[in-house]
Amino acid sequence: MKKLTSADSLVTINHYKNLLVAEGIPAFLKNEHFGSIMGEVPFQEVWPELWIENDLDYDRALQLIDAAKLAEESPSAPWKCSQCGEENEGQFAACWNCGVAQEVDV
Ligand SMILES: [Zn+2]
Repeated sequence: MKKLTSADSLVTINHYKNLLVAEGIPAFLKNEHFGSIMGEVPFQEVWPELWIENDLDYDRALQLIDAAKLAEESPSAPWKCSQCGEENEGQFAACWNCGVAQEVDV
């Protein structure tokens, strides 16, 4: 077992867990009920944590989480079409002008 990440919100950490499970990576939460013990320990130490069952999944799981974090931070970054050079709003997955799909940097 290995700790993957933590977050200050149960919604976020549950979202990450669902992502991993959907990819076939067994994952579980710790400190799920952190709210009830707040005040007794420093806040940061009781953030809900996401753990994985198999250490071998660690690298892949981390990549999935990083991708999810990036998507959250820049949900609508504008992008430039590689085909026609048109500027597109971030919410469009394909160029509005020529229909070419957005190229995602990995
Ligand atoms: Zn285009």
